[in-house]
Amino acid sequence: MAWFKRELKGIITTTEEKKEAPDGIWNKCPNCKKPLHYSEQVENQYVCHYCGYHLRIGSKEYFSVLFDNNEFTELFADLTSGDPLHFEDTKKYTDRLTETQFKTGLKDAIRAGVGKIDGQDLVIACMDFNFIGGSMGSVVGEKIARSIDHSIANKIPFLMISKSGGARMMEAAFSLMQMAKTSAKLALLSQAKVPYISLLTDPTTGGVTASYAMLGDINIAEPGALIGFAGPRVIKETIKKDLPKGFQTAEFVQEHGFLDFIVDRREMKEKLASFLKMMAN
Ligand SMILES: [Zn+2]
Repeated sequence: MAWFKRELKGIITTTEEKKEAPDGIWNKCPNCKKPLHYSEQVENQYVCHYCGYHLRIGSKEYFSVLFDNNEFTELFADLTSGDPLHFEDTKKYTDRLTETQFKTGLKDAIRAGVGKIDGQDLVIACMDFNFIGGSMGSVVGEKIARSIDHSIANKIPFLMISKSGGARMMEAAFSLMQMAKTSAKLALLSQAKVPYISLLTDPTTGGVTASYAMLGDINIAEPGALIGFAGPRVIKETIKKDLPKGFQTAEFVQEHGFLDFIVDRREMKEKLASFLKMMAN
């Protein structure tokens, strides 16, 4: 017999009412499951100090890690997506956009800024995975294109930080066109002899991998990042073969010649600054 009996069923405290651990102060490392305090994460550039796992972060955090004193001018901040196809799945695309904008405080899955890293000018365009899976729609493509124009006009090197599930299905072909558009713009950047560094972070997949993410003068990735084009199940069913273990990790991709370097986020700024210096000479 039990010592006491619960008479009422289904007593549930809503998450907002659980006060012991204020929301967002403690986080569990997704890899080693150890608790990480928010201030420790910031101090350690959002890398788990137990196991070195690189937490997924957004443009706000990357800008703070890379730009000197977190000072930069945001570019093309007001671009937002239209709904050319009047797309609707479980909800209307326009509603999904408004909701996501409200929830994330972002206008779309990318932000661009110009500032200095270690005293050298740099344009950075950085994707945000929180915004519909970092999907590449027309706003992402357009912001990248305009950032490249800004780089060419001012002779400032361009850094692209990719983090994406691929093309945005709600924009269908308009989304796929961004692959050609960004690639063509990068060709112009190259003709103008302005350096382009591509940084692939966890995850970089689909049409993003198949276009601008792999076109850097230098392609670098963060350790352990998932990098691929199609998902493993699709590939397995297509080629009818088992896939090697870890075949879509940054380490595997580097071994097979698609990446130049894997750089720990805690050394990222220093490495990028030295690449920029090298390419400026
Ligand atoms: Zn960890």
